[in-house]
Amino acid sequence: MAGNAIQPDMIPVDPAPECALRWQAQLQRAWRDPAALLVHLGHEPADFPLTDAGQFPFLVTRAFADRMTRGDPDDPLLRQVLPRVDEDSPAPGFGPDPVGDSASRAVRGVLHKYRGRALLIATGACPIHCRYCFRREFDYAGDTLAGPALEAAIDYIAAHPDIEEVILSGGDPLMLSTGRLRRLSDALSGIRHFRRLRIHSRVPVTLPARIDDALCDWLAGLGRQVVVVVHANHAREFGADVADGIARLRRTGATVFNQAVLLAGVNDAPATLAELMETGFAAGAIPYYLHLLDRVSGSAHFEVPRTRALALMDDVRRRLPGYLVPRLVEERAGEPYKMPVF
Ligand SMILES: *Cc1c(COP(=O)(O)O)cnc(C)c1O
Ligand code: SF4
Repeated sequence: MAGNAIQPDMIPVDPAPECALRWQAQLQRAWRDPAALLVHLGHEPADFPLTDAGQFPFLVTRAFADRMTRGDPDDPLLRQVLPRVDEDSPAPGFGPDPVGDSASRAVRGVLHKYRGRALLIATGACPIHCRYCFRREFDYAGDTLAGPALEAAIDYIAAHPDIEEVILSGGDPLMLSTGRLRRLSDALSGIRHFRRLRIHSRVPVTLPARIDDALCDWLAGLGRQVVVVVHANHAREFGADVADGIARLRRTGATVFNQAVLLAGVNDAPATLAELMETGFAAGAIPYYLHLLDRVSGSAHFEVPRTRALALMDDVRRRLPGYLVPRLVEERAGEPYKMPVF
């Protein structure tokens, strides 16, 4: 089919709108019905007791689901997104706001919990619904940066000279259009003490097409240091498309890290964790945190006991160079930093 090959002169002069359509169209084609995905993966849906999931419905992009193994009921990627009936069993110690986010809310859409850093809830939307997510019960409708809330958030940051780093989080900030991200950064650009922009996002792993030229142009032109913290819990999440997206991010000058959550049945084995760190690094993401599960309601079936977590880390340290060993931390309400776990 050489005659049909795309010639360089056929590439549109401004590819941005087409690329935007591409990732947005991909989102529209995401899996929203667990039974349909299970059938696609060669399973009998009746073998999987699922809950209705209500407020936090099933959602997974095709880019992510394409990395699941057909016929494997224990697939570690599938396990992260399947709303099992286990979610409906109340567990002692698990609740709606395990990390005390509501107490660190400064103004609408702004969490100011740690010195020097303010975290903006840029949007409530995500490209995937991770069943263990501690923000699954967060009141996004009442707490994102929609409309006039953005102005109040900028005023808050401007009035606090200690805030040198602004973290865009959510939900997932890269679900916003590049135009909206640009308006946000334009609003921040007049603040002299604002030195670093950090982006917490699962988009590079779940929707790599979103790392398009327009997004990269925005990052490269910010005039601030940029840190992107992606989130993958298993080596298989770093597909070739993901590595390409991370390479595009790095070419803008951004530093890219990966954070993971220690999850039973997903990555709670030393070889699995070591492979996650190695594969992430090969894809361009330096290991950052390995989080103990935040004890949010409905996630108890993912918990790895602390003593086992410590034993796993001891084994991981024996396998990896020091720079690939993640920091095992836990988030505790009221503490001034994420607590190292010893
Ligand atoms: C995790 C978090 C941060 C960032 O903490 P680091 O240790 O710098 O990664 C900032 N603000 C809030 C509210 C957080 O939850
Ligand atoms: S905030 Fe992150 S971890 Fe939580 S559901 Fe969204 S993508 Fe998943």
